[in-house]
Amino acid sequence: MSERWLETLHDAYGQTFTVDKIYFESKTEHQHLMIFDNAMFGRVMVLDGVVQTTEKDEFIYHEMLTHVPLLAHGAAKRVLIIGGGDGGMLREVCRHSTVEHVTQVEIDQAVIDMCREYLPNHSNGAFDDPRVNIVIEDGIKFVTETDEKFDVIISDCTDPIGPGEVLFTSTFYDGCQHCLNAGGILVAQNGVVFMQPDEVSTTTRRLGSVFDDTTFYSAAIPTYIGGIMTFAWGSDNPAYRQLDLETLRQRYQQANLQTRYYNPEIHQAAFALPQYVLNIIQQAETR
Ligand code: SAM
Repeated sequence: MSERWLETLHDAYGQTFTVDKIYFESKTEHQHLMIFDNAMFGRVMVLDGVVQTTEKDEFIYHEMLTHVPLLAHGAAKRVLIIGGGDGGMLREVCRHSTVEHVTQVEIDQAVIDMCREYLPNHSNGAFDDPRVNIVIEDGIKFVTETDEKFDVIISDCTDPIGPGEVLFTSTFYDGCQHCLNAGGILVAQNGVVFMQPDEVSTTTRRLGSVFDDTTFYSAAIPTYIGGIMTFAWGSDNPAYRQLDLETLRQRYQQANLQTRYYNPEIHQAAFALPQYVLNIIQQAETR
């Protein structure tokens, strides 16, 4: 009988996985990293007791956090990824032949190293793409100090605990605004709203004071338990969110992406939010 691993993200509720084989488990310079095999989800990567990604359902998260901003923007050449050490986001960004440069700022080299070795399908060679520049640094330091400019920024960070906490601050969002080109878009992982509603209200307030057009879009990823995960959206161009379906369809066709979750209809539908989420946003805006 395999041992079971219990996720400790929530005190009163959690998911367990059978651990069929442990590939790696150690304290890195920044966090506790574990990669193990599970009969249902394949290889699972965990940081500080929280599921980060699994082979089986990672495509949903990585496709939605990449193709929504890139196809909405329509002409992004320079992309910045904060976090994303497993390489799944980088793989999806590199599938856009129109992207000329990607900088990825990851705080923990060990995550990249171990994921390249034990989750090779996540990056699928993207770390060796000539357009890619990997920077091992705290994301908040990079965005507040760099003089580089980007068209799309994707914050693919852990939850706001430990090293990821700073990536949910006003200083971080100000820094992102500072290194976005005119017409740039910031998207960020923003938690499973039913379980972490405060992340939506906090980000609403903080992002709202930095960008003219802020909202959330969503997708349900099975191993981010508790329902839909929200993705924060910030830009100064509301027109991106008014794009008609035909335009999205043309851009999707042109990009030739062969996705497994993303499609233009889901792109549009993802911005439709349940009433309880809209209520959280409205309450945060009026406080
Ligand atoms: N999909 C996951 C989620 O939604 O929680 C995120 C996955 S990805 C592995 C998270 C990455 O963020 C990790 O590689 C972690 O090392 C990195 N990270 C955490 N804090 C960071 C920071 N301050 N600067 C840069 N990278 C950071």
